[in-house]
Amino acid sequence: MSHDHTRRQFLKTSSVAGVGALGALGGVTSASRAQPRAKALDAPGSAVSISSGNGLVAVRRAVERINAGADPVLGVVEGVGIVEADPNDMTVGYGGLPNERGVVQLDASVMHGPTHKAGSVACIENIMHPAAVALKVLQTTDHVMIVGRGAYEFARAHGFPHEELLTERARKAWLRWKQNQSERDDWLDPDQMDWNQDGTEVGAAGEQQPVPFTYGTIHCGAVDTSGSVSACTTTSGLSYKIPGRVGDSPIIGAGMYVDNDIGSAGATGRGEAVIQSCGSFAIVQAMGLGLSPTDACLRVLKSIVSNSKRQKRLMQDAERPGFNVILYALRKDGAYGSAAMFPGARFAVADGSGARLEDCASLFD
Ligand code: ASP
Repeated sequence: MSHDHTRRQFLKTSSVAGVGALGALGGVTSASRAQPRAKALDAPGSAVSISSGNGLVAVRRAVERINAGADPVLGVVEGVGIVEADPNDMTVGYGGLPNERGVVQLDASVMHGPTHKAGSVACIENIMHPAAVALKVLQTTDHVMIVGRGAYEFARAHGFPHEELLTERARKAWLRWKQNQSERDDWLDPDQMDWNQDGTEVGAAGEQQPVPFTYGTIHCGAVDTSGSVSACTTTSGLSYKIPGRVGDSPIIGAGMYVDNDIGSAGATGRGEAVIQSCGSFAIVQAMGLGLSPTDACLRVLKSIVSNSKRQKRLMQDAERPGFNVILYALRKDGAYGSAAMFPGARFAVADGSGARLEDCASLFD
């Protein structure tokens, strides 16, 4: 099943001189300013933005901001910022599920096509907007990646507030995970307790609730009407991970990649598999060789499966992996596509026709 989409009314206006919104990008060098860009407000048509299924609000905001003249990198970071601040999304930012110690550790990366600059942070704690911190790395330093305590201190130096990111809902989910680890440890399962915190009896049937265990992330890519491409990916990563574990999201070329001559790509799902196949870089390269966005995603999923066959524990049978990965691709001309290992996944897209969810293609039935 192919889901390639070419943006309506998309006009290539990259040769049109204009000021654009690069002035807002403090750290972007004069090299980018030397390249004339169309001023989005003066150009007909609309920006296009693609995101994971949890990013409907993000693509809507990104396209609004870019069509109002913002650089795409600012549009995508502001768009994902809405989801980072949403306590109900337990895969990203505030409210994200914590690591095995109960601490929320976040990863994020950003890439700006016109300058080919990238910024990223990993294992950052107590900062709600890691994508905006990654953008500061991109804008204000000669580095690409800052991790852990250094990333936190860098964010604080730039005025990001210190915040507790563990919500009550995420704390209770983490506690249930601890209680369910083993019947032989000192953390009693609800059905091993004689009484619960309300003092009411807990029977043998207990009050077991499912333990939310997730991969989950938001990726967002966008292109403006002059063909400037940017993207970012931000996540709380694998739930209950080993402290210090870094997924694919902050790794340039794995969880996200941009080549301004071709387009952007991003990934959600099992990060280890995406890192080991350089997922987003491979998608952009495949589009550069002429594959459609959807076919590029499907090709990279195939290579992830073939690499995973070398580790039998990752496979549910001889052909199908025991995990999901969802890939997203946006071409410079506004064509877009997304594919998952298995059916049922959706992705978000916004363009001149508004914001909507569409079905991802899938590698397996
Ligand atoms: N890819 C992310 C990670 O491995 C999580 C996810 O997207 O589900 O950290």
